Amino acid sequence: MPTKEKKIWLTFDDGPDPIFTTEILNILDKYSIKATFFLEGEKAAKYPYLIEQIKKTNHSIGNHTNSHLNGWKTSTNTYLKDVFEAQKVIKSSLFRPPFGKIKISQIKNLIKDFKIIMWSIMPLDFSNKISDSEFKNNILKNVKKGSIIVLHCNSKSHHKVCKNLPDVLEELLKREYEFCSTW
Ligand SMILES: [Zn+2]
Repeated sequence: MPTKEKKIWLTFDDGPDPIFTTEILNILDKYSIKATFFLEGEKAAKYPYLIEQIKKTNHSIGNHTNSHLNGWKTSTNTYLKDVFEAQKVIKSSLFRPPFGKIKISQIKNLIKDFKIIMWSIMPLDFSNKISDSEFKNNILKNVKKGSIIVLHCNSKSHHKVCKNLPDVLEELLKREYEFCSTW
């Protein structure tokens, strides 16, 4: 994100999930840090109370399609239908394409209704080939003004994120970064 200040944007994809999202919200709350959650419509429809909980604590939410579609493998028509199906429950002006894969024709349509948000730091929280310290370093060695960090609220990432997020947040706060959730 373009900024001259020490601002960064923390994002969590693939929720909401009653266990994973709740635990992440608790960690963020402990440090009074605001983040953005890019939600899948199918999951959001199952757990509407989680949407309320995320918004009530002043985090932001974004649309991450209804069924986590890969844009490169999906026709634009099907993709748009899926996004707007998710929009019935998510109701956000932010969109992040699953896998970061989206066609120009899909972008052209979606930018009428959404701000499309990618990322600059993907610390591979979902990979079991990455150690805890590698995960932390992927963030702490690359972070700079305007960074957008992507983490996940899913079963592959849960353990690594919950175990290491407090250390990462403490270090980023020590370096005087401000966490933003407006775009
Ligand atoms: Zn995703």
